[in-house]
Amino acid sequence: MSLITCKNLSFAYENMMVAQNINFTVQQGDYVCVVGENGSGKSTLIKGILGLKSPKSGTIEFSEGLKSREIGYLPQQTAAQKDFPASAYEVVLSGCLNSRGFHPFYGKKDKDRALKNIRLLGIENIMNRCYRELSGGLQQRVLLARALCSGTRLLLLDEPVTGLDPIATDDMYRLIQSLNQDENIAIIMVSHDIHSAVKYAAHILHISSDESFFGTTLEYINSSMGEYFFRKERHKWT
Ligand code: ADP
Repeated sequence: MSLITCKNLSFAYENMMVAQNINFTVQQGDYVCVVGENGSGKSTLIKGILGLKSPKSGTIEFSEGLKSREIGYLPQQTAAQKDFPASAYEVVLSGCLNSRGFHPFYGKKDKDRALKNIRLLGIENIMNRCYRELSGGLQQRVLLARALCSGTRLLLLDEPVTGLDPIATDDMYRLIQSLNQDENIAIIMVSHDIHSAVKYAAHILHISSDESFFGTTLEYINSSMGEYFFRKERHKWT
C-alpha cells in the first residue's frame, strides 16, 4: 500500500495555475526525486503535501496511518536560518515540537529522540557548538536530524544540497541514501541536479506547466520528457 497517493493534482496562486495534473504514489521505503524547470511548482507541491497549501483540484491521500505532522521536512535554507543563534542540539530538539501539539515543553521522550537522531547522523561531537558557526554541510546534517525528530517514515527534502561544496554534496547524498536503504525511510526530494536524481532515486516525478511525468528512473531516462530535460541541463554546464 502507498504512503501517499496524489491524483490529478493542480495548484494555483490567485488565478495563475502551477504544477498541473500531477499523479504519483510514494511507497514506504521509496525514493522519489521531483525535478522540473524553475518556477514549475516543485516547492508548491511540497507545501501541498505538508498541508500548508490547498490544491486547486485533485486529491492527496495519506494511508498506512501517516499524518502530515509525522512527515520530516527539510526546507530550503534561508540566510536568516543559517544565522540561528542556538546550539546544534537545540536546533535538532526543536524538530520534536511538530509532534507535540499543544504541549510546548520538551520531555524525556523528546530528548531521547533528539539524541538518537544525533547519533544516527554522526554529529555527537558538534552537539554543543553554535549552529551558525558550523559549515554548510554540518548545518544540513543538523537540519536532517531535526527533520527526523518530526517523522521517521517519510522525509521531504527541498533542494538539500544547495550551496554545499562538491564534497559536502556527495556526503549529503550518501547520508540520504543510507537513511533510505538502511532505515527504510521514504524520501521525496526536490532537486535541480538531474544527474544525482537519476543516480539515487527509484522514481522520478517531473513537473512542468502542461504535463507531468511519473515513473521509474529508467522509464524517465528513456522518456521524451527525460531526454529533453537531460539535454537542456547538459547544455547549461557545457
Ligand atoms: P519551483 O519550486 O519549481 O521553483 P515554486 O513552487 O516555488 O516553483 O513556484 C511556482 C510558481 O508559483 C512560480 O511562478 C512562483 O513565482 C509562484 N509562486 C510561488 N509562491 C507564490 C506565492 N506565495 N504567491 C504567488 N506566487 C507564488
